[in-house]
Amino acid sequence: MANTLIAGGGIGGLAAALSIARAGTNDPHRVTVLERGDRFAELGAGIQLAPNAFRALDLLGVGDRVRERAVFIDELRLMDGTTGRRVTGLPLTGTYRERFGNPYAVVHRGDLYQPLLDACRADGRIELLPGHAVTGYTQTADKVVVTSRIAGKVTADGRTTGSGTVTRFEADYLIGADGIRSAVRAQLVGDGRPRVSGHTIHRSVIPMERVPEELRWNVVTLWAGPKWHFVHYPIGGGAFLNLAATVDDGATREVAGEPVAREVVRNRFPGLSDTARALLALGDEWRTWVLCDRDPVSAWTDGRVALLGDAAHPMLQYAAQGACTALEDAVVLGDVFPDLDAYAALRRERTADATRAARWLGDRIYHPAGEAARERNGMLAALSETDLHDHVAWLHAYNPRTERIPSDAVR
Ligand SMILES: Cc1cc2nc3c(=O)[nH]c(=O)nc-3n(C[C@H](O)[C@H](O)[C@H](O)COP(=O)(O)OP(=O)(O)OC[C@H]3O[C@@H](n4cnc5c(N)ncnc54)[C@H](O)[C@@H]3O)c2cc1C
Repeated sequence: MANTLIAGGGIGGLAAALSIARAGTNDPHRVTVLERGDRFAELGAGIQLAPNAFRALDLLGVGDRVRERAVFIDELRLMDGTTGRRVTGLPLTGTYRERFGNPYAVVHRGDLYQPLLDACRADGRIELLPGHAVTGYTQTADKVVVTSRIAGKVTADGRTTGSGTVTRFEADYLIGADGIRSAVRAQLVGDGRPRVSGHTIHRSVIPMERVPEELRWNVVTLWAGPKWHFVHYPIGGGAFLNLAATVDDGATREVAGEPVAREVVRNRFPGLSDTARALLALGDEWRTWVLCDRDPVSAWTDGRVALLGDAAHPMLQYAAQGACTALEDAVVLGDVFPDLDAYAALRRERTADATRAARWLGDRIYHPAGEAARERNGMLAALSETDLHDHVAWLHAYNPRTERIPSDAVR
């Protein structure tokens, strides 16, 4: 019987636990998830899930549960945030569903996380241990030894305080799914702190009943302006509106979830057109993050250790693919387990492409100003529905079980 330790009980870590536990049909696999938080939970914001995520969720056995609370939206709409005019919309019904075989949806993070957590809890091969912050590993030819500290508080820049009590765990394999500031990655890759993008995001979730009826659109709307953009979409079965307003302000400090006054957020987007301004003004209890990512690396494995999700390929959220690709990682890892090198070879290129695509979208589509913004509007407005679908096909059509070869499709 193989024993695997997973550092980190986020979306990626729990998905990997399910996938690995189910991998051993003849030789059962046991999995222990070490999570530094004092409980297994996700934060309260929204998340977009493309068809590739649903394909992975189905393969993990939780697709239907996630669909129960998902909002299946009609369009990804791009508005010029200063003029208030519609630029284009990528339709997500009809031919999109037929072509990609699954919906595009938006969900409350908890509505994605809870089905994964429930499935882990129901699986006798999976043990969930909160309050354990992994600090490092050593390995021999036949085992890996992982050290963890009893965790206390997590600071804004991702460090963990704690009692200092050290625990040692032995296993056959270790999967580092401990996020963008991964302790496992620090040892395996050693590429220091993440790259601070200089982009600050403010996020809020409000009850839908506060939103005027004529603004309750069943779409993901993105208002693009000079060095800023504002996104909103319904979540929680339509009961809430998720608001996310981003500004390229050159921020240099890593910030994760700090509260910010609503007046501060309102005043940061002076050029925002009227409808978008009205929606932004509804937000309250805003929280702030400074977005970070990392350059793609080839080192994903070290003997009996591998990285997964944000620990392996943290990307800006502009392609809305960080969690989607973490779910894909989990399926592929389970399919080839315990061949960690095969897993890495199958995942590196695709996730590097997604990381670069996310940066490109921020620079070229969401934040251009003046003439560059006019050119963007003209270029996007000229694209047909099929053109738009072709552009996202390499991301949204991916099936982690069958499409193992990196796609050459349009990007
Ligand atoms: C503003 C924003 C919007 C986004 N929107 C989307 C979207 O629409 N669609 C999408 O697909 N993705 C989106 N993403 C990306 C997505 O949130 C991440 O890619 C995804 O959550 C990564 O999951 P993960 O499990 O790999 O990492 P994480 O979610 O970071 O989980 C890591 C876990 O490990 C734990 N941990 C950390 N260190 C240790 C340690 N040393 N020991 C033990 N445990 C540890 C943490 O507490 C956490 O529970 C967005 C990201 C942001 C910031």
